[in-house]
Amino acid sequence: MVAIQDIEAAYVRLKPVVHKTPLLSSRTFDIRTGNEVLFKAENFQRVGAFKIRGAYNKISTLSKDERTRGVVTHSSGNHAQGVALAAQLLGVKAVVVMPKIAPQIKVDATRGYGAEVVFCEDSSEDRERAARQLVQQHGYTLVPPFDDEQIIAGAGTAMLEVAQEVKSLDYFFCPIGGGGLISGNAIAAKHFFPSIKVVGVETEPANDCYQTFRQKRIVRIDPPNTIADGMRTQSIGQRNFEIIMKYVDDVITVTDEQVIETMKFFLERMKIVVEPTGAVASAAMYYNILNLKQKKVCTMISGGNVAPDLLKRIL
Ligand SMILES: *Cc1c(COP(=O)(O)O)cnc(C)c1O
Repeated sequence: MVAIQDIEAAYVRLKPVVHKTPLLSSRTFDIRTGNEVLFKAENFQRVGAFKIRGAYNKISTLSKDERTRGVVTHSSGNHAQGVALAAQLLGVKAVVVMPKIAPQIKVDATRGYGAEVVFCEDSSEDRERAARQLVQQHGYTLVPPFDDEQIIAGAGTAMLEVAQEVKSLDYFFCPIGGGGLISGNAIAAKHFFPSIKVVGVETEPANDCYQTFRQKRIVRIDPPNTIADGMRTQSIGQRNFEIIMKYVDDVITVTDEQVIETMKFFLERMKIVVEPTGAVASAAMYYNILNLKQKKVCTMISGGNVAPDLLKRIL
């Protein structure tokens, strides 16, 4: 189990490397929902999403020997870029396994950070198999996207930054893919704000953790068709399950349509580009799914990497 000390240790490693992202607010948003909402803007983070936090923390805690051999990961998205940049900053070789259908913008970005890209078929099984083979052949260390203590601790440093800026919070809303982000941030949130309610948010099609939370066992779903591509994971990880059951107060869902409208709000009113998955937690507040009134709320904007074509279609 990850402890607050692990998150504090991660923070010391990350401080010289990552951006302390801003906490944004919008009067229009607050008036609409009747609450005071602060957005933790990880869309302004390096690589455009929070993933650099976990990746850098993980790679910097590997042994010298492991670092010399290099790292590998399987991811189609922001985790790949996080691992690629973290490895580059630490002078470690990185190989990224991606499905053939990965968006070109993400392939290019990953290569741009100096990683080697190896393509495979689309299912999670194919990706994991390809990565395992590379581990066996070359002795690389796998950097998992969410089911890992150092990844979780790194992700949790975002809430540590929030706690440096605000004295009290009633609610924290966080998107859930594999559960790495919410795991670290829930531990930190409960430490700094003991009475806070931590709420996980998924889209309806990607509601595996919503089901998991209610059934109290890890539920695995078919690859979901949702606009929130960062939560197309089929289930949360084992470590994430244990932390979520202990520290998260509720898991709720929003529709893809609500995510799109929230992205539009961010663009039109706040002039910020938020990717679909990055808008999921805020959508739960934009539509005030829990009917909150006069609460002080923080929502996690987890990333801003959206392909220009998709952005165009959304607008
Ligand atoms: C990875 C990712 C998530 C989900 O994070 P998990 O740790 O897998 O739950 C949410 N939003 C964005 C932008 C992401 O890249």
